[in-house]
Amino acid sequence: MALRIVVVGAGYSGLAAAKLAAKWTDAQVTLINAGDRFVERVRLHQLAVGQRLRDLPLVDLLAGSGVDLIVDRVTEIDAAQRVLRLANTSQVVRYDRLVYALGSAADMDSVPGVAEHAYTVATGDQALRLRERIADSDVLAVVGGGLTGIEAAAELAEAHPGLKVRFVTGGALGAALSERGQDYLRRTFDRLGVEVRAHAKVSEVRADGLLLADGEHVAADTVVWTAGFKVPELAGEAGFAVDDHGRLTVDEMLRSTSHPEVTGVGDAAAVRMRTGQELRMACATGLPSAQHAVRALADQLAGRETRPLRFRYFNQCISLGRRDGLIQFVHADDSPREAVLTGRKAALYKEAIVRGTVIFERHPVIPTSF
Ligand SMILES: Cc1cc2nc3c(=O)[nH]c(=O)nc-3n(C[C@H](O)[C@H](O)[C@H](O)COP(=O)(O)OP(=O)(O)OC[C@H]3O[C@@H](n4cnc5c(N)ncnc54)[C@H](O)[C@@H]3O)c2cc1C
Repeated sequence: MALRIVVVGAGYSGLAAAKLAAKWTDAQVTLINAGDRFVERVRLHQLAVGQRLRDLPLVDLLAGSGVDLIVDRVTEIDAAQRVLRLANTSQVVRYDRLVYALGSAADMDSVPGVAEHAYTVATGDQALRLRERIADSDVLAVVGGGLTGIEAAAELAEAHPGLKVRFVTGGALGAALSERGQDYLRRTFDRLGVEVRAHAKVSEVRADGLLLADGEHVAADTVVWTAGFKVPELAGEAGFAVDDHGRLTVDEMLRSTSHPEVTGVGDAAAVRMRTGQELRMACATGLPSAQHAVRALADQLAGRETRPLRFRYFNQCISLGRRDGLIQFVHADDSPREAVLTGRKAALYKEAIVRGTVIFERHPVIPTSF
């Protein structure tokens, strides 16, 4: 019987990993995903403002790849038996090798009131819920100073000029950007009418806005929470070694540090570079991690030596609405260089990168340099 590789999660990293595994190994590859569509998560702020996203059925993206697709939710990983249990069938799915690629979701439990009152752009359903809500909204607060929060605030302000958008962050505006990048972001938010509340720690979300740690109330009839992501608990529940955030801990070959038959990619895994630096949760890191993981898995199955993960950052690509953008060039460790690309050219650059991810999902490859 052929060796069976099962990939759980068909996001950016899992879909690519499944297709690459089918190409690079002789194993029978099965991909399990909760939904039947590929979700372009990096465009969910666009969905939230009413733009239409491409419909990407997984069966189409998998056509001709040899990967079997199961659309169902994984409810349990039985590490001892090496089987998976699913929500909608009593049949189990056996694996010899498991690729864990379940991604991440918004963390709605970190601050009181978030789960009850806030909206997010972390999943397609949540983005659509926000889209409906905006119709009845006058003042909206985006909480979270990371790239997702910046992109969401800009997109909302550009698409809804009559909506007052407040951007609330615990640190400085664009803290991870160079001085030029911060300056450009500040000017863009001014142009879009986004009001910035920097160094503001939110202690509670209420129906009428935010309560800050210093007791101040920031009024908003809609709150968009982008201030943290969490990962599914299945890895920890299965007894796999996980970090403090529940992410599968992996070695330089992307193998679980406790269960070598398990490989972790994307947001759900804590992937480190040789320097010890952890890769940030991003599509930009998920795709190379999938390429490297499959290369390592194929080498291991073929009895070849494999190279440890090598990775360097090049840039951070930020959309600022549909007509503006900010490309922050970075050093190998993701720290900002002074150089930035801005404006219309940056918007086009970002759009090309985002389109490129779907082209990659259609035709994934592993470069020889890996
Ligand atoms: C609005 C927004 C904008 C972003 N912009 C950028 C950007 O510009 N650049 C960038 O690099 N990153 C960006 N990101 C981050 C990026 O989207 C994630 O890092 C990326 O999606 C992670 O890929 P992944 O494959 O690990 O998981 P995901 O893409 O999250 O996919 C996980 C898959 O697993 C499935 N799944 C989960 N649980 C189960 C289960 N129990 N059973 C079966 N299936 C399950 C899910 O349905 C999903 O299909 C953005 C994120 C958001 C929300």
